[in-house]
Amino acid sequence: MKAVVYNGPRDVSVDNVPDPEIKRPTDLIVKMTTTNICGSDLHMYEGRTDFEKGRIFGHENLGEVVEIGNGVDKIKVGDMVALPFNIGCGHCRNCETTFTNYCITMQPNEGMAGAAYGFAAMGPYDGGQAEYLHVPYGDFNCLRLPEDAREKENDYAMLSDIFPTGWHAVEMSGMKPGESIVIYGGGPVGLMAALSASIKGAEKIMVVDRHPDRLRLAEEIGAIPIDDSKGDPVEQVLNHTDGVGADRGCECVGYQAHDPQGQENPNLTMNSLVQSVKFIGGIGSVGVFLPQDPGSSDELGKQGQIAFDYGLHWLKGQTLGNGQAPVKRYNRQLRALIHAGKAKPSWIVSHELPLDKAPDAYRHFDAREDGWTKVVLKPQLAAS
Ligand SMILES: [Zn+2]
Ligand SMILES: [Zn+2]
Repeated sequence: MKAVVYNGPRDVSVDNVPDPEIKRPTDLIVKMTTTNICGSDLHMYEGRTDFEKGRIFGHENLGEVVEIGNGVDKIKVGDMVALPFNIGCGHCRNCETTFTNYCITMQPNEGMAGAAYGFAAMGPYDGGQAEYLHVPYGDFNCLRLPEDAREKENDYAMLSDIFPTGWHAVEMSGMKPGESIVIYGGGPVGLMAALSASIKGAEKIMVVDRHPDRLRLAEEIGAIPIDDSKGDPVEQVLNHTDGVGADRGCECVGYQAHDPQGQENPNLTMNSLVQSVKFIGGIGSVGVFLPQDPGSSDELGKQGQIAFDYGLHWLKGQTLGNGQAPVKRYNRQLRALIHAGKAKPSWIVSHELPLDKAPDAYRHFDAREDGWTKVVLKPQLAAS
């Protein structure tokens, strides 16, 4: 089969690799029909992780089940399924308490938790930017899609990661209906946080970014766009909130945060959030931070540390929730919202491309070129 393979920093190619096979009775194989490129793929693409050469990218996966092991009970051949990017076993202590983002069984390294398809340091699992994907514990790791799966495929494809991740950011911030929220980062996850906040009844949603295409998308769903290249974002947030600050905030950027001039500064968004969120407000952080980042230009950053304004955060009595989203905690309900026409997360999709165009797509998306807001790959589309 064809797959998007990592060759080294900023070098991916579409190669022929062996087809996946059922190895255990609980496995199944999915023929990929939509697989997204994610902002977190870019950390690996840029060589800022220890993602191994030769591995296949892709953790935002949707497709049709084409083969099942004889221990798969619920899922049938022909089912259209969305696959949470977290791979869970379903029976470890963390999975049992809905923390499938910290599955112990599927993470091979002692003392670590969490597994994912095509992801650095999250187990050996192949990604889905390919014609086929191997799925362990198929019954647990597939979400079946309703009869409109094909028609709303680009919406349901957002259930694998970014829609639940944005939802989780808002959830961790503690936002209640009628409260205001500021979201740092207008990339796909930040925009999903804005959509989630809107569905959850936010009184006012502010999205901080500097790319006009992203700010436009934020505005389209009723958020206030805040351009941090045109002035201090904290001041702008305070101006929109009577000088008090937002009730809640979300971090949707991560450790490669940088100023409008492009200078990386890993504490930029977290410290802006501490200042932008009011006393006793809450912050949910889903942007990726890593325990070490040897490629950082920042001395603390190399060791996975940031100079965090903990004193002000403490003084203000703010809460802080962190980490990757437990997708299975939310994906059924979000599927229902899409099915009922109450959420249309595909509004951010800018490009639908065949697999062969992946190397180009990575280049454009990595360069944050105007108009490349979200790429979905369609492995069944003929190469053009
Ligand atoms: Zn993702
Ligand atoms: Zn588990």
